[in-house]
Amino acid sequence: MAGIYIHIPFCKKACHYCNFHFSTQTNNIDGFIEALMIEINLRKDYLKSPIQTIYFGGGTPSLLSFSQLKTITDAIRAQYVVNDFIECTLEANPDDITEEQLQYWKQLGINRLSIGIQSFQNDALKWMNRAHEVEQSHKAIEAAQKAGFENISIDLIYGTPHYSRADLEADLNLIKEYAIPHVSCYALTVEEKTALQSMIQKGQMKNVVSEEQAAHFDIIVDFLNQQGYEHYEISNFAKPGYRSQHNSSYWKGAHYIGLGPSAHSYNGSTRQWNIANNALYAQSLKKGEINFEIESLELSTQFNEYMMISLRCMEGFDLTFIESKFGEAYLQHTNNIIAQFASQKVLSKTSEGYCLSKSAKFLADGIASEFFIVGSSPSL
Ligand code: SF4
Repeated sequence: MAGIYIHIPFCKKACHYCNFHFSTQTNNIDGFIEALMIEINLRKDYLKSPIQTIYFGGGTPSLLSFSQLKTITDAIRAQYVVNDFIECTLEANPDDITEEQLQYWKQLGINRLSIGIQSFQNDALKWMNRAHEVEQSHKAIEAAQKAGFENISIDLIYGTPHYSRADLEADLNLIKEYAIPHVSCYALTVEEKTALQSMIQKGQMKNVVSEEQAAHFDIIVDFLNQQGYEHYEISNFAKPGYRSQHNSSYWKGAHYIGLGPSAHSYNGSTRQWNIANNALYAQSLKKGEINFEIESLELSTQFNEYMMISLRCMEGFDLTFIESKFGEAYLQHTNNIIAQFASQKVLSKTSEGYCLSKSAKFLADGIASEFFIVGSSPSL
């Protein structure tokens, strides 16, 4: 299984918290697409297996016109083997979703929408500096469902100051009313060099409170579990049959190619990432070159990534897999850390290994880091 990620690096407005790569210079979209066409061609042999999932992320892919998106999907179908294709996701912001656009997206084979709702509270949207208002979110969901998109995901951001538990419960009830089959819920984090960080440092905005975020997380997990969602990854909840195939394949170690500025690619032994600068990305492609960095993944790095990802997923880590892929020393190292955690009840036994217990899920990344190998091999 292999996937393609296409990064569309443009947004109408800069959200205060965002540290993704994007530009608000939307007059450069055509130049970006010309460069992307060259990259698609230059890298057509990167993946050895047929493509099963395509994901348009960003930035804001829904800013693209029908003809711009069609240029990209035509090039992918022409240059890559897209055989057993199962999922094509487009990230869309509510203010871009119209009946006309929805029909275009269907024509292009997009069969899953990931809608950047973030909150159904106008105060929270304003605080985040989102480009849309709540009314547009309602219209977008209704229009998408009417147009026949049943595989819809929505993003929700919790733990922002002024976002009360009652606000969160009201948002969760709307998700239930709309019968949205997939929800991604993210605790707001204050990232380096964002407008949010600067405003907090200057005392212009309140900082986030991690205890309140943990309480919000518990409300979300309990509510969505009761509604029949699988909590299949720390931030992701799906009704049966609606897990994101594209992201799930990342988490299972499938290979993928990332196209566009800042996009990452992985082929099993190396990871590479394109320059996160639209102008430099396009300049080098005009000369027939790709501006990227690459790292070879040592066995210890692969192990650390496996532990991080598997502990974030519902299934957890598999001890037999660890022994067969990484060897006896890694298995012993893993068992030593499991023993250290024995009294804390953060791990639950599964048939193949361990996953996080419910109470430890909010701390997933910290617990995973305890398993990390520092250096090139386990020291026992
Ligand atoms: S729309 Fe998305 S990518 Fe663009 S600034 Fe906001 S959060 Fe970042």
